[in-house]
Amino acid sequence: MNPVRVRFAPSPTGALHIGGIRTALYNYLFAKQHQGTFILRIEDTDQTRYVAGAEEYILESLRWTGLIPDEGLGFGGPYGPYRQSERQEIYLDYAKKLINLGFAYYAFDTSEEIEEMKKRHASESNPMPKYDFNTRAEMKNSLTLSTEEVEDCFKTKTPWVIRLKVPASETVSITDKIRGEVNFNSDELDDKVLIKSDGMPTYHMANVIDDRLMKITHVIRGEEWLSSTAHHVLLYRYFGWESEMPEFAHLPLILKPNGQGKLSKRDGAQFGFPVFPIDWKAEDGEIFSGFREAGFLPGALINFLVLLGWNPGTEQEIFSKEELIQLFSLDKIVKSGARFDYNKAKWFNSNYLQKENVEIILDHVNAIFVKHEIKAGADQVNTIYQLYKDRAVLLNDFFNMGKYIVVEPADPDEEFKSKKWKKEWADSFISLANVFVEIKEWNHVNLEEKIKEFMIMHQLKMGEVLPSIRVMLSGTPMGPDVYQMLMAVGKEKSVERMYSGVKKLNS
Ligand code: GLU
Repeated sequence: MNPVRVRFAPSPTGALHIGGIRTALYNYLFAKQHQGTFILRIEDTDQTRYVAGAEEYILESLRWTGLIPDEGLGFGGPYGPYRQSERQEIYLDYAKKLINLGFAYYAFDTSEEIEEMKKRHASESNPMPKYDFNTRAEMKNSLTLSTEEVEDCFKTKTPWVIRLKVPASETVSITDKIRGEVNFNSDELDDKVLIKSDGMPTYHMANVIDDRLMKITHVIRGEEWLSSTAHHVLLYRYFGWESEMPEFAHLPLILKPNGQGKLSKRDGAQFGFPVFPIDWKAEDGEIFSGFREAGFLPGALINFLVLLGWNPGTEQEIFSKEELIQLFSLDKIVKSGARFDYNKAKWFNSNYLQKENVEIILDHVNAIFVKHEIKAGADQVNTIYQLYKDRAVLLNDFFNMGKYIVVEPADPDEEFKSKKWKKEWADSFISLANVFVEIKEWNHVNLEEKIKEFMIMHQLKMGEVLPSIRVMLSGTPMGPDVYQMLMAVGKEKSVERMYSGVKKLNS
């Protein structure tokens, strides 16, 4: 058996959707399990779809999720370059070999000529005619033109492409590790362009040549590439490599939360959750939000993603990376689409927050304060962590729920102000603040004693007093134990916020 070599081969055409991260993850786990090599190859031969920054985005996403390639762009290795645009000559040489073998040909047709051919052949039984075994004989290519005419085309610099000569009426089969035997009828396949008129290879050509030259043993990729595999098999066959073809595993789609179709990059905005690993700013300025910025720990995202398509066959849901490397298997990947459930992702994150090393969480929370340009002391961040560790689901929750400990909240909760607060309570709460000023030792026992006396004296209920104090301290009536909040904010600031809170509530 050859050593396992797998590749993650994204195209830098925009941000990498989490489906891409799942593909990377499955490749990574498979490689690690077999002490193999996980390779990053950038498939950038479609110059028209190239997006600046996409390559850096891919690298940053892999770094953040911890799916670090062993070899490939940015990581070195013996089979480079790993960016396909830098391998142009290699593909052209191979395409010419195929022409010499009689399995490919030059085509000189203009797009108008191809359109006309399609119009000519369109019928009810064949609404979308193709450039194929059936039509190539009437087109302008090196199969129909004489050698002199072909030479002429080159001399006059007529644009050309190289096409694969797909045979008629053959069955092309693959044994997919997930789907079993999949058959394609070659009559359905067009004569795919292998080299485009700009000299660049198409995805099919570059993909097959590189998988071969980079000694890839297993191709693990999304289901959307399954139909392309038919052309790939023909290429392997014509180069004489079919018996050494990589094994294929086509992963199921990730579906929208409602199960209606494939999860798309727009779904994030529509359903209000991230579908990208990290934030992506599109060229037009539109921001597509990422799991990292939403406050996920990378381990939680990985754990969530691994189960979108892979079924370990047990009840276990939380897996360390080491366990995944041991347990992962292509046989347990399901065929049907896996539904994206954001609540489940959050469930994983709250689990990971509970078991993550405290120092790491404190660093993350601190970084969120820095990002918002709020200066928070280490003790304040620590207090926030202690107060909210059982409630936080996302890292950002620590910031959102606890930032009042560092800065005064803006306006009080609107609903509380209009429905719960009674303006005639103002004097009472001012008097409570005055009592607080006199407290010598700002602790739970003393605060509780004063608040109880206050309730009796002013005939107020617990359900009226405690939420009011919370609103004054933090802006919202919900939160942890009010005594802990008072202690976290500290005597001086608590008193100030009660004075100003009463004013805001009465305004
Ligand atoms: N470049 C393709 C993509 O963007 C890779 C498909 C494959 O892995 O063969 O997903």
